[in-house]
This record gives sequence, C-alpha cells and structure tokens, in this order.
Amino acid sequence: MDDEKSSIFSYMHDIMLWQRRSVMFDEIHEECGVFGAYRVDNAASITYYGLHSLQHRGQEASGIAVSDGENITLQKGKGLTVDVFQKEKLDSMVGRLAVGHVRYSTAGGQENENIQPIVSKGHNGSLAIVHNGQIVNEKELRIELENEGAIFQGTSDSEIILHLIQKQKGTLKERVMKTANRIEGAFSFLVMNEDTIYAVRDRHGLRPLSYAKSKDGYVISSETCAFEVMGIYESVDLKPGEIVEFHKGIVKHEFYSTDTDHHMCAMEYIYFARPDSVVEGINVHAFRKATGSILAREDKDLKADIVIGVPDSSLSAAIGYAEEAGIPFETGLVKNRYVGRTFIQPTQAMRDRSVRLKLSPVSSVVKGKSIVMIDDSIVRGTTSRRIVQLLKDAGATQVHVRIASPVITSPCFYGVDTSTKDQLIGARMSVEELREYICADSLRFMTEEEMKEATHGVGLCLACFNGEYCTKLFSYQEELDK
Ligand code: AMP
Ligand code: SF4
Repeated sequence: MDDEKSSIFSYMHDIMLWQRRSVMFDEIHEECGVFGAYRVDNAASITYYGLHSLQHRGQEASGIAVSDGENITLQKGKGLTVDVFQKEKLDSMVGRLAVGHVRYSTAGGQENENIQPIVSKGHNGSLAIVHNGQIVNEKELRIELENEGAIFQGTSDSEIILHLIQKQKGTLKERVMKTANRIEGAFSFLVMNEDTIYAVRDRHGLRPLSYAKSKDGYVISSETCAFEVMGIYESVDLKPGEIVEFHKGIVKHEFYSTDTDHHMCAMEYIYFARPDSVVEGINVHAFRKATGSILAREDKDLKADIVIGVPDSSLSAAIGYAEEAGIPFETGLVKNRYVGRTFIQPTQAMRDRSVRLKLSPVSSVVKGKSIVMIDDSIVRGTTSRRIVQLLKDAGATQVHVRIASPVITSPCFYGVDTSTKDQLIGARMSVEELREYICADSLRFMTEEEMKEATHGVGLCLACFNGEYCTKLFSYQEELDK
C-alpha cells in the first residue's frame, strides 16, 4: 500500500473505530428528536416513519415504546432507525399509542441504559418517556433523588424526569405538571402510560414541539417535517410552559407554569432543523434564505463570480445570498453522505481528516473563480479552514466567507454540542484573527439584530452568541466561570 492509500485507510479506520468504540467526552451533550402517535393504527410503524424523518437530529440510537392499552412494549438499540427496526420487530409491536426517540449521543453516554424511551414499571402502571433537551439542575435533582433512595439505571437526564414523576402525588397529569415545575432548562418531552400521552414543553420554549391531527388520531413531533411525510400539512406548536394531554380521544391544553418567556434555540433555525420543517410558524428554508439575503445586502461592493454553500445546512442561505446579490449560485462542494458528522470526532486530527473525506470541491466549477462561500456557523473553526484550503487547492482565486449566524462565543447548556468555551474559536479570536486563521480573503458574520430580522420577531435564545442564558445554570455555572 503506498503512503497516500495507507493514510486514507488509517483516516477511515480511525473514524470507524471511533464510531464503534463509543468514545465520549464529558462536556458535550446531545440533540435528539421525539415522536409520538396517539390512537393511531399501527402506532409503532407510524412512529418508525416519524423517527426516520427526524434522523438528522440523532443517528446514534433509536427506540420505540408502544402501548396496546394494557401493556407497554419497548424496543431500542444503537444505530439508525432503519438498523434498529426491521419489519418483524415492528409487526410484533402491537398497539395504538407509541412514543419514539432518536438520539445523538455524546456525553449522556452511549450505554444502552441511556437509549430512549426509558420505561418504568410502578405499582400504578408503566410509564415511557422520551425527551429532547438538557436539564440544567440535573445534578442537584439527581443528588436529591439518590438521597431519597432512587436508583438510576443510566446517566441520562430523562431518567430524572421519570423518577420525579414517580415520586409526586396525585393524578398522572398533576405529577407531570409538578415535575415540569421542578426541572429547569431545555425540555420537550412525551410521557405515555397505557392509555394517555402527555406532551410538555419547557417554559422558555427552547426546544420545538408540535402536534397534528392525523387521519385516525394525533401525531406529535420535534419537527413538522415528520408530519409532511404522512401528508399532514397543518400542525399546532406547543407554547412555552404548556402541557397537552391526549386522553380518551380528546386533546386538552393547559399551562403548568405562567412564568414563561420565549427563547427558541436560534441554532434550530441555523443548523439543526430540516429545511422543510416549520418552527414557530417560520419555514426553516425560508429563514435560511433570508439570512443569506441579509448577508448579501451588506456586501454591495463585493465582486465575485459565484456563490456556493457548504452542503447541506448552508445551501438555502447561499441561494438567498445569490438571489439578492445577483451572482450565480453554484455547486462548488459535494458532500459524501456516508461519513459520520465531523463535529463530534473526538480529536482535532480526526476532525481535520473527516472534513476532507466528507466534502470535495468541484474543481471545474471553482477553478479560476472568485467565490463567496456561505457556511451556517463557525464553532471550532475546523470546517471553514479546511474548506477554504480545499477551494484554493482546487484553483479558486479568492474565497470570501460569509457566516449565516453571529460569532459563537459561549457554550450551550441546553442540549446542543457547541462545546466548551476554550474550544470555541470565536471566544478566543477577533473576526480579523479568525479570517487570517481560516485563510479567507474576507470574513463576515451576521449580527444578532440581523438574526432577529430573519425570524420576524420569534423570541430567540442567542446565548451561545451573547452569553445571555435565559435560566439559572446551577452547577454548569462553574463550567462557564472556569
Ligand atoms: P467547526 O468546524 O467546529 O467550526 O464546526 C462548524 C460546522 O459544524 C458548521 O459547518 C456547522 O454546519 C456544523 N455545526 C454547527 N453546530 C453544530 C453542532 N452543534 N453539532 C454538529 N455540527 C455543528
Ligand atoms: Fe441554541 Fe445556542 Fe441557545 Fe444552545 S445557547 S439553546 S445552541 S441558541
């Protein structure tokens, strides 16, 4: 094997090993997707399709719990939804109520105990829970519950929610409402017993959650794209602090808290959500196009031959930029979809290599061209630096980088792995230093005001851009102050 082949082999081997070996690093947390089906024929299969549409929110593990009205059956495992569930398995999961989960596991751990749904069997029946978000008073609650004798199976904060529900007094709805008032942070969760599902959204509205009427019942999802595959185009967003009960065929809305505000995660619009999803009434593709067009508006004097976007999350913004600037949009980069997400490789060397494996420049498009290259965000700086280098190696004469979000300067404690402060390049460097680091001919980010303009007044969390967290951070404050 010659040197080049051997080093490519070793890159791939590193990546596969990493994927298999469950390497974790403590400071990073997961994004996830939840789906529920209420009074729906073949609820497990419908949930399977729902989870498949939410797969971009988590590829590490997948699970479904189904209720036949008397018993809850659980199936879950590591891997993509299609790998965990085969037809025979789904056929064996009989029932008309189901909740499911896709997990992007990092810090909570990849142990089987942390894969959701988590199901508990108590004297008053079984409960299944699926959760997206991160609870910031997790440590305090875990200590309190352990002191009271609770035994945890895993390290995921979803188990805390389940324990809290179990220890409250009253009806299931009252217990869920009391629990929602005890936990702080980002959460959109579903709780199912044998005949009822509760959907709950945190009082800051940090994570999305919507439901829709299906032909025979109701479906609930982290993102509306999961409804569209079922031919459902109308949905209802839960409001911050709201609990929705699906019981005896009736849907009932209530607020468990009146102390609410509105801080939808800006990163959902910028990066996570699928372009065909509608988050708080705004289509994600339309939002991203608007960010591109705002960036172009401020670039009146920039002369370039083509506009390209980093696939996939930056393509909409690049189209918006190109339209506004009157510069042709081109496919300058092609993505290999079968390489794991670059962001979560455990070492910088592995991240560097996987960017190269994941993205290739189209040299016939970029050669001899002055390029505007749009990316959605810069976190550690690995991706942009590599891409500028790839484009220049392929013959681009100039690369002007435009980022469709503000500079990330603070970590996220609400379930998104924007890493620790010392790893955030924007926290250490000025924009000019960053431009130099990524070897761009020019570099510009959006302002917070421009972000708000693109969301037409939806209340946003912008904490990773401005350090203004909408909750107390509890033990995470120490991490921030380090
Ligand atoms: P970096 O190379 O560390 O600067 O990462 C920036 C790239 O990662 C961008 O191109 C984004 O598309 C992507 N990205 C941004 N935030 C996240 C996240 N929380 N998880 C995974 N990827 C992300
Ligand atoms: Fe989203 Fe950033 Fe807020 Fe985290 S800190 S919830 S990533 S906007």
